[in-house]
Amino acid sequence: VEDEDGGVLFLYSSSSSSSSSSSTFGFANNLQNQRQRLPVYKRKDAILFLVENYATTIIVGETGSGKTTQIPQYLNEGGWSDDGHVIACTQPRRLAVQSVASRVAEEMGVKLGEEVGYVIRFEDVTTPGVTRVKFLTDGVLLREMMDDPLLSKYSVIMVDEAHERSISTDVVLGLLKKIQRRRPELRLIISSATIEAKSIASFFRPSKKHRGAGDDVVPKREPAIISAEGRGFTVGINYVQEPVADYLQAAVSTVMLIHKQQAAGDILVFLTGQDDIDAAAQLLNEEAQSSDRSTGGLLVLPLYSGLSRADQARILSSSVTLQDLVFSPTPRGKRKVIISTNIAETSLTLEGIVYVVDSGFSKQRFYDPISDIENLVVAPISKASARQRAGRAGRVRPGKCYRLYTEEYFVNEMPAEGIPEMQRSNLVSCVIQLKALGIDNILGFDWPASPSPEAMIRALEILYSLGVLDDDAKLTSPTGFQVAEIPLDPMLSKAMLASGELGCSEEMLTIAAALSVQSIWISIRGAQKQLDEARLRFAAAEVSPSAPLYSPMLRTQGDHVTFLNVYKGFLQSGKSSKWCHKNFVNYHAMKKVLETREQLKRTAQRLGIILKSCDKDMQAVRKAITAGFFANACHIEPYTHEGKFKTVRTSEDVYIHPSSVLFRVNPKWVVYHSLVSTDRRYMRNVVTIDPAWLVEVAPHYYQYQGPGSLNR
Ligand code: ADP
Ligand code: MG
Repeated sequence: VEDEDGGVLFLYSSSSSSSSSSSTFGFANNLQNQRQRLPVYKRKDAILFLVENYATTIIVGETGSGKTTQIPQYLNEGGWSDDGHVIACTQPRRLAVQSVASRVAEEMGVKLGEEVGYVIRFEDVTTPGVTRVKFLTDGVLLREMMDDPLLSKYSVIMVDEAHERSISTDVVLGLLKKIQRRRPELRLIISSATIEAKSIASFFRPSKKHRGAGDDVVPKREPAIISAEGRGFTVGINYVQEPVADYLQAAVSTVMLIHKQQAAGDILVFLTGQDDIDAAAQLLNEEAQSSDRSTGGLLVLPLYSGLSRADQARILSSSVTLQDLVFSPTPRGKRKVIISTNIAETSLTLEGIVYVVDSGFSKQRFYDPISDIENLVVAPISKASARQRAGRAGRVRPGKCYRLYTEEYFVNEMPAEGIPEMQRSNLVSCVIQLKALGIDNILGFDWPASPSPEAMIRALEILYSLGVLDDDAKLTSPTGFQVAEIPLDPMLSKAMLASGELGCSEEMLTIAAALSVQSIWISIRGAQKQLDEARLRFAAAEVSPSAPLYSPMLRTQGDHVTFLNVYKGFLQSGKSSKWCHKNFVNYHAMKKVLETREQLKRTAQRLGIILKSCDKDMQAVRKAITAGFFANACHIEPYTHEGKFKTVRTSEDVYIHPSSVLFRVNPKWVVYHSLVSTDRRYMRNVVTIDPAWLVEVAPHYYQYQGPGSLNR
């Protein structure tokens, strides 16, 4: 079918799909049968035809139709990985990258990391020269462009989950459009779970003046759109009569009601993040245990990105990971309840779901360029998301969706579409990467969704203050290029560079690695006090390997120094998991810290940063941190007794987070690593500083702020 406004090819499938029963999962021959029953299988030849003939192919298909797991395999079978070429498939989320790669390796009967591999930040599970199908986050693809601007090793790049409009996806799309002009043989596939595809198609359509001439060349430049839609089963929608006061409690009661009253079938609950998911899981487990036998048989499984293997093993007290359980068939006589973030909305396919409970909320990033504060807040989802969530109930047979909001709210108040992340994020990392790729005119860059000028200007200002950009907004040499190359937030990268000059780079490597894991502590509900005590034992300014280990009498200088002490203790224990357990330290997180540190060390060496330890001179460490994070300086309000601080730059009220070792210590001057907002704005990962350093490390910046701001 020809699209009226020109040249878009639609190939709609009218066939419906019959989904496979998950009970056959796990046997190789059945895996192949399963593959052939997926809706995309019927479109295999059409997809290969379009990829051959069109530079860009857009594929729309509902979640579970086989886009992510099948299309890279079709391309592989179709010869796109011959002659040493690699097929790439990007995902916005790390957990999805790992999960999908291992599924595809299993389907192809190969070992993960050989023909099929994946790369996420600080974790490369590929073998150069062997890996033909590679899954990676779009953030990693952006980084790869710094070494190989035309991404020359890839024959096809599939940008998956494009409807999510994550910030990296949008930047990748903008850059791929540029690369395509230089590499006509490169093929792009953009896949999406919704018809959002249309706006992406118009983004990739060549402008009028380029059209016409050479319309018959292959590959054709206007994008092709193909739909691999299999009809899902109908999903009955139920709304609450009155708005609910507490969506968590409402979700738990709804699950219990379904369990008591409805026929067999698994339940998928959409909440927002680790906190409410863990809380709901605990409540459900308690309910299931305390009630009579009719409510037994619930298998409660949390699912969120930060879920580490250690936590999984702890929750299950076995070596089976949650991920295995989430994807494996439900045991006889049991009913799975998977409580998830919006990762299960489209990124991961779960079999056997018949009931969906939708809280109507998700965690979303919001950025205020004026105060330069970025928050993850619980916010209402869009109608498009609500429909996706409901759709998860109709995979195997007709299902039911329970919306914990009123119909009136859905119809009249819920926004139709979400706002692309690009328009609600801090753009510092994005701008520095574009600059490093030689894109100087950032404001004129061809974005799929234009970012706000205020956010753009703020990002340029911050990079200028870090000495990364010069007066002409070009990357400085060498600082700018070095900061861009270190795979960390620019402020932390700057601290890394400064540590080379201040003779404490070994320490900064450890700190950077520790900041890049979710948390180095084990949190156990109900053991908060013991955890706090454990933390304080490591908080002392310095630890001598002999007697007065972690004496709380020693002055506490902050969370970064604490990381160093934990790391030291961990090494001294011979990297013992027993030691970790005793000290409330997360063993798996520490292993990750070691790995990440090794990778950062290689980058540092490549950049010529002098590797040196300052031994016990924590002043050097704190000064290096200040050199990166001076914009996050705060001083305490002297006349209040509640630990209130003011940010130097904007005079905002902030407090030290209760998880910080400086909580209640309230030193005069600090810099923080990040802010979180709940009832108040809390600083996380805080270190004490001497205000004189601010002028020393950033004279331009603090002059900027006008006199007086440092001398209150
Ligand atoms: P899409 O990308 O279109 O949403 P996928 O390719 O992710 O679809 O999934 C296709 C099918 O593959 C699913 O319906 C499911 O049956 C199966 N599948 C995908 N991932 C897994 C997994 N980790 N374990 C078991 N089955 C899986
Ligand atoms: Mg997918």
